[in-house]
Amino acid sequence: MTSVTERLADTLVGLRMPHALEALPLIVRSLEQGEITALEAIDRLLLEEYTKRESKRVAVAFKTSRLLPLKTLESFDFTFQPSLDRERIMALAGLSFIERGEVVHLLGPPGTGKTHLATALGVEAVRAGRRVYRITLAELVDNLIQAERAGMLQTRMRSYVHPSLLIIDEIGFLPITPGGASLFFQLVNARYEKGAMILTSNLGFADWGDMFGDPVMATALLDRLLHHSVVVTITGHSYRLREHMELIPDHVRTNKSLVPPPPPRKRGRPKSDRGD
Ligand code: ADP
Ligand code: MG
Repeated sequence: MTSVTERLADTLVGLRMPHALEALPLIVRSLEQGEITALEAIDRLLLEEYTKRESKRVAVAFKTSRLLPLKTLESFDFTFQPSLDRERIMALAGLSFIERGEVVHLLGPPGTGKTHLATALGVEAVRAGRRVYRITLAELVDNLIQAERAGMLQTRMRSYVHPSLLIIDEIGFLPITPGGASLFFQLVNARYEKGAMILTSNLGFADWGDMFGDPVMATALLDRLLHHSVVVTITGHSYRLREHMELIPDHVRTNKSLVPPPPPRKRGRPKSDRGD
């Protein structure tokens, strides 16, 4: 190694650039053999460090953002959901709604890809260097209630206000207690016009009064969550059930409106299925 190469290696150690350090000998050889220019050598060296660091950052962020299992826009089959405008979703993937602190509502029956799309938009945001956090409404409310009991509400609240994009999944799956609704309202208020959100729900907005057990609270929430918002409604079939279409009763298969999830069933085969 020449003295310059040696010094370069020491500098890379000092700068904590292990990936560049590892690539250094090969890059220097290419340079000496006239395969690349000096500028290309610098470019390769820095790119080596940057791409390795970036892929590590993204992998860690997917975990801490709770975006696993990972879903992407590339793996979403738009032909399965003709009611969904692909261009609209692709426009959202441009992420300007995050810049504007807007709220995106993904509405539709179970299995129509709401969580998939919300996660995929979160993945795009993480790749773009944004802080993202995904949580179900039930978990969110539960965590806020526990934090309040422990005298840690402000700290917990801050952790949900902090991300540039907060994804709140499964609104409407479980009823929310009045205490929970008021904590959720505080959070929505704190993020209002500041931080973007993606909300997914199998309920229409008209059902929010019942879900929160308080029509006044529901109206106040919707007032903030619908101002500066984008509403995407999916009216198609469940992707989970796509291979079992013949088992879905006619009235469910042909229902084009938002339907609440069926009540929890006891294990075992339902009566109507018997004798086939
Ligand atoms: P929802 O949140 O609306 O109940 P999910 O997003 O969880 O539905 O979708 C259920 C499953 O089907 C997931 O594994 C998801 O990745 C997959 N899925 C749903 N819609 C599509 C689609 N159009 N293309 C590919 N996979 C899909
Ligand atoms: Mg879901």
